[in-house]
Amino acid sequence: MKPLHFDNRFVNELPGDALHDPRPRQVVGACWSPVKPTPVQAPQVLAYAPEVAALLGWDAEDVQTPEFAAVFGGNRLLPGMQPYAACYGGHQFGQWAGQLGDGRAISLGEVLGVDGQRWELQLKGAGRTPYARHADGRAVLRSSLREFVCSEAMHHLGVPTTRALSLVATGETVLRDMFYDGNARPEPGAVVCRVAPSFIRFGNFEIFAARNDLATLTKLVDFTLARDFPELEGEPTSRRAAWFMNVCERTALLLAHWMRVGFVHGVMNTDNMSILGLTIDYGPYGWIDNLDFNWTPNTTDAEGRRYRFGYQPQIAQWNLACLAHALMPLFEDTSPLEAGLEHYATVYHEANRAMTGAKLGLMHFDERDLPLARDLFALMQQAEIDLTIWFRALAELELEAPNLEPLAEAFYNEEKLAQHGPALQAWLERYAARLRTDDLSPEQRRTRMNQHNPRFVPRNYLTQMAIDRAEQGDMSALQRLMQVLRQPYAEQPEANDLAARRPDWARERAGCSMLSCSS
Ligand code: AMP
Ligand code: MG
Repeated sequence: MKPLHFDNRFVNELPGDALHDPRPRQVVGACWSPVKPTPVQAPQVLAYAPEVAALLGWDAEDVQTPEFAAVFGGNRLLPGMQPYAACYGGHQFGQWAGQLGDGRAISLGEVLGVDGQRWELQLKGAGRTPYARHADGRAVLRSSLREFVCSEAMHHLGVPTTRALSLVATGETVLRDMFYDGNARPEPGAVVCRVAPSFIRFGNFEIFAARNDLATLTKLVDFTLARDFPELEGEPTSRRAAWFMNVCERTALLLAHWMRVGFVHGVMNTDNMSILGLTIDYGPYGWIDNLDFNWTPNTTDAEGRRYRFGYQPQIAQWNLACLAHALMPLFEDTSPLEAGLEHYATVYHEANRAMTGAKLGLMHFDERDLPLARDLFALMQQAEIDLTIWFRALAELELEAPNLEPLAEAFYNEEKLAQHGPALQAWLERYAARLRTDDLSPEQRRTRMNQHNPRFVPRNYLTQMAIDRAEQGDMSALQRLMQVLRQPYAEQPEANDLAARRPDWARERAGCSMLSCSS
């Protein structure tokens, strides 16, 4: 394996835990604890992302070595690695939850990659840390595979995200009670190596504010500004204000993208919110099949539906308000924080509008077009229409004679189609009339739409089928899915089956429509 160049600023510049003790405890006055991955029995590379390896300067030869499996399964460290678990807190489901921290994530170090870009390498499922509480520090194959697939798919969809380098089987089993119903079973374990410029979360700041540890809070803010936001300049007060504004803006863009592609995070707790505005911590996430703004994939959230699809933009703002609250002691005047939260709403609405316009293939989408979009989304929800299939098919609409025929694939329910058919037909005519007043040629419109409406997304059932096969030792479905998701906007006729709507069997099946936090 070609050597990596490590520059571990997080551990070298921020206060660490004096204890080298992986037992669960409260860690105070420290941003991190030193902890080594716990070795596993038989690490085996199940999959890797060549694009991510390339960011580090590695190719297939580096990856296909026993050393790679050993390092990314957690059995060996490379020279320069300084493994640690970060201390953070968070608001879970709206309540302050105190110290959480990396309970099973272990950062190995920060690599300076090919263009000098910083990439932190982090193993998830590599064993217990002081933040593991009562849990085992491990991850099961199904959840690790889900994180691996979705982070790379998101990247190729153009959605900000942490990346994934590798998926390594541990050769050990992990006991999990998938639905917390007393039916624990042993499952195969696996470790993902995720990769991002920074894994700092809102919760990293919140924990020090909650403990009134302003010295550490200040150090962490200064560090984050210096390492992760070097482009922001000015004296400290205005720099911090600009920073919060920037975090709000990134978060707004992230949420607009999630809504564009139909991604439901499932656990938008403040400890799962990246300071860089990346999608982070893939747990019981899900993808929208039939458009339903009330849908949540997370069974743990089935009752309150706090993290339902349509509510995500508001939750993100609520989370930013928690961050603002944590940062308050560092601001003499709270107006920059209030301005940031307002900025979030402005940017989100602008971005959402721009993306909705692009999804509809309109050159100019403004105030007057909002009812057109709103009515469509309402109809799609009522008539149970597949989000992804609908918008790809809509690009093929015949403007002179708009009709539902080319959209037939997008319907889940014949009865509902019959019931809402006339309203949908009327909508299509209204839409076609609006398109005729727009400046785009049919060809330009189709191109624009197909750049914003993916043909392929990692639908829950597709990932579940890849999991079923992987659990039998067959990685071919995963490989194929990953390959197709590299170009999610391209027509790939040989992969039409991977663009199909959710089959009936997947409607209520665990892993396809219902997931829990147990992973
Ligand atoms: P999550 O809901 O996945 O964001 O996790 C919330 C907290 O629980 C974080 O501190 C995680 O590190 C921790 N956690 C989740 N699963 C495990 C596990 N199997 N072992 C140890 N800690 C865990
Ligand atoms: Mg988390």
